Amino acid sequence: SGAESAEITPAVTPKRRIDVVAEYSVHQKNRETLNLVVVGHVDAGKSTLMGHVLYALGQVNERTMKKFERDAEKIGKGSFAFAWVLDETDEERSRGVTMDIATSAFSTQHRKFTLLDAPGHRDFVPNMISGASRADVAILVVDASTGGFESGFDGNGQTREHAILIRSLGVRQLVVAVNKLDVVEWSETRYLEITNRLVDFLTGCGYVKEDVRFAPVSGLKGVNLAHRITADGTPELASWYHDKDSASEPGPCLVELIDTFAMPERPVSKPFRLAVTDFFKGGTFSSANSVSVTGRISQGNVQIGEHVVMVPGGERGVVKAIDVDFVTEEWAVAGDSVVLMIQGLDIQHISVGSVVCTPERPIQCTTRFEAQLVVFDPPVPITNGFPGLLHMQSLNVPAVVSRIIETFDQRSGEVLKRRPRHIRKGATARVEIVAETPVCLELFKDSKELGRIMLRKNGETIAAGIVTAIYGG
Ligand code: GDP
Repeated sequence: SGAESAEITPAVTPKRRIDVVAEYSVHQKNRETLNLVVVGHVDAGKSTLMGHVLYALGQVNERTMKKFERDAEKIGKGSFAFAWVLDETDEERSRGVTMDIATSAFSTQHRKFTLLDAPGHRDFVPNMISGASRADVAILVVDASTGGFESGFDGNGQTREHAILIRSLGVRQLVVAVNKLDVVEWSETRYLEITNRLVDFLTGCGYVKEDVRFAPVSGLKGVNLAHRITADGTPELASWYHDKDSASEPGPCLVELIDTFAMPERPVSKPFRLAVTDFFKGGTFSSANSVSVTGRISQGNVQIGEHVVMVPGGERGVVKAIDVDFVTEEWAVAGDSVVLMIQGLDIQHISVGSVVCTPERPIQCTTRFEAQLVVFDPPVPITNGFPGLLHMQSLNVPAVVSRIIETFDQRSGEVLKRRPRHIRKGATARVEIVAETPVCLELFKDSKELGRIMLRKNGETIAAGIVTAIYGG
């Protein structure tokens, strides 16, 4: 509970040899990475598009790409070659063709990206959701072919669901790839029809117009991906897709648009928190009572020699070594993926979902809190007492929706109904949640990462949301 964590006081004042915030402000250019998630309806062309982008950016060597092409031709599915770049299933691996490909990280002129959960996986939706929970920015892929956009957007299409999900998890910046335009002869009318519908929809679910940009592309043909237009010039597209500042120039390509995503500010001065995604005995400089924990620092900074506390449990340790992206460092900050070697912690007392904190202001740990949820498509309506699995960071805990406080209009914030009996599909509601065991969390307004939750039932994500109040007990 809150009271419990307040009682934890530092045994020793942490040693601070390095002014990490000052160091970071000098070095940040080399360290900044954006977490990118690619979302969209199944078959919109996400894998093909990202595979082609990675190839165009030089992430896949020529020899490997040729092999994909030959293998794809052999089974009569030449168009699969680019999707295979991202396909990391065991099957594909056993074909021995995934070497020489870097699918998880790539750079554009001004930005470094971590591609979250490659969309080529068959179980893409659950992967997308775990990816979305860490995303800074997103590419939304829509299928522009006749009927293709409609089947992804209307009815049970995932376009809406994904766009709402990532927005409710804090993603503000979006590039929409209007894909497969080759199928409709690069029709400007079709492009405008789709972009207009999407602008209405996206601004309606909380995106700011200026933060949503569109690119007409073909992932398959490789048009307007890493270079403006090309694939032999594509005159049908070049005839109407112009740069807004110069009508004689073609408009920006997909990669140029993602290259201008604004960097979200990393909360490097806030109290240190690292949610543990994995842990193991040993590691660099390992000693008898030391343990290595991995995860992404959600806020604050840490340096060698500093004292930390594990929540829940309250056990303390000293940071002995820090790896950032597998390179040994003296310090690390919010946004870095790290391995911390900590002396003085008992591995028995650590679990996935534990949070390593500064002893000065550890995170709250509670079983009861309030959240604002967007409800997708639950198998049965969510009513008071609805049981599910609470998912946050890498943690899964059985929990119930103990009380539905109110439903409200996501656009205006206006309350629609107080104490409703149930929350219907697509609605937004304020609820109280009670978890079976204590979980570490923050208010969303204080921490984008530690204040996001999801609710699952029978292996499906049925709601996602943000923490709006934390209660003791
Ligand atoms: P995902 O499910 O969103 O990852 O979609 P895939 O990348 O697997 O693509 C689905 C299908 O659409 C495949 O048959 C692709 O070859 C095809 N496809 C993808 N992008 C394009 C495109 O730009 N043009 C055309 N004509 N077909 C495409």
